Amino acid sequence: MTIRKTALITGIKGQDGSYLAEFLLSKGYIVHGLNRKSTSTDIKHTNIKKRPDAYLHQGDLSDDKLIKTLITEIMPDEVYNLAAQSHVGSSFTCPTYTGNITGLGTARLLEAIHTSGKNIKYYQASSSEMFGITPPPQNELTPLHPTSPYACAKVYAHYLTQNYRESYNMFACNGILFNHESPRRGSDFVTRKITQGVASITAGKQQEITLGNLDVKRDWGYSPEYIQIMWAMLQLDKPEDFVIGTGESHSIQEFVETAFEYVDLNWENYISCNKNLFRPSEVNDVIADTRKATHLLGWKPKITFYDLIKIMVDADMRKAGLESIGDGDELLIKHFPDKWWLLD
Ligand code: NAP
Repeated sequence: MTIRKTALITGIKGQDGSYLAEFLLSKGYIVHGLNRKSTSTDIKHTNIKKRPDAYLHQGDLSDDKLIKTLITEIMPDEVYNLAAQSHVGSSFTCPTYTGNITGLGTARLLEAIHTSGKNIKYYQASSSEMFGITPPPQNELTPLHPTSPYACAKVYAHYLTQNYRESYNMFACNGILFNHESPRRGSDFVTRKITQGVASITAGKQQEITLGNLDVKRDWGYSPEYIQIMWAMLQLDKPEDFVIGTGESHSIQEFVETAFEYVDLNWENYISCNKNLFRPSEVNDVIADTRKATHLLGWKPKITFYDLIKIMVDADMRKAGLESIGDGDELLIKHFPDKWWLLD
């Protein structure tokens, strides 16, 4: 008889958490998720709720006692720490809250795991934002130079994960993930703001999209591919940190142009720029050097920047009550034929 593994996912209703839960359930895991009270409404989680092997626990990552109780009661085999105040722009207006959740939340989990006495494997959602102004390409050895309270909190969590690994011999890994998006990306993130706006403009419900700095570049991939590599890291023989991305960077302007071109509109007629949306300090360019992940994990993303935009616009067209163009759906069916849940 095979023994089923149990996983705890913090941030289970977020973009990555919801995909990861579905992925682990499809692998036969029993999945527990930390779910805070005030939840965003646009993240799909109904699939998780309906599953008999999925358990949602209400609580907050700021609650030391609850985190300790959760770990000792569930005694999971694997913990994926995906919960965070994850919005870089908001971290400038709420730096202490960001530090408490994104930084100290990690300390609460690591300490609860350490004192549980069980060999629990731990995944920390580190971020390419930690590289800040260090020029691309960036890999596991690149110096960190964070430029936002969010990135500073992630740096603390990143080093603490390494510290628990080295001090207590814990199986703890940092996945230094570059930007990854999907139709489940929160509406306040720039990529989703663009694809939702494009669908809404096409439906005649919106006139324009207001954005900040169009010149910043990011290395953008597709979230459902990234969550699978989180799992793969915890299946290795020894814990290591990995950079994960596509190895290409594109500007926000290129994202805008491609999304509008897909629906046959000229972007210049619909975009306005507002300097108030510029961040006090910015990460101008990041490009993942993923040689280590390619070598040890077989990392090779299938979905390109252009495919990602088609997938997101198609999903938002459907949500706006329109027919999708169709290319995005075809790409999903081609690359992930068994994953029905990816068609949001
Ligand atoms: P997301 O959609 O914003 O999800 C974050 C989750 O954290 C949400 O479910 C949110 O709950 C939860 N959360 C926030 N504050 C909490 C608190 N005080 N207590 C408990 N839960 C709380 O982010 P994501 O895109 O899935 O990213 C997952 C993780 O990877 C995050 O840590 C993020 O910083 C990191 N990361 C993301 C990227 C990316 O490009 N997506 C890149 C690198 C690293 P609600 O649902 O209630 O809001």
